[in-house]
Amino acid sequence: MIRHHNCARGVGAKGVEMSISRVFCLFIAHEPDRAHVEWKNGRFVGHCKRCGRSIYRISTRQWRPHKKDPA
Ligand SMILES: [Zn+2]
Repeated sequence: MIRHHNCARGVGAKGVEMSISRVFCLFIAHEPDRAHVEWKNGRFVGHCKRCGRSIYRISTRQWRPHKKDPA
């Protein structure tokens, strides 16, 4: 029995859209979903409306994703 790896390649239009968002977030900025921004532990936290990651504000219009805790 020989299996071809034809499943791993399937990237539809949604996948392309997602990677554009990721690139935008990486090279330009994350943008918070303002309706859900909260004040927590002395800083604003929220979720990026493009990539959905948890982000916190470092300064005006500068948002950074939370680093993942090391396992
Ligand atoms: Zn983002």
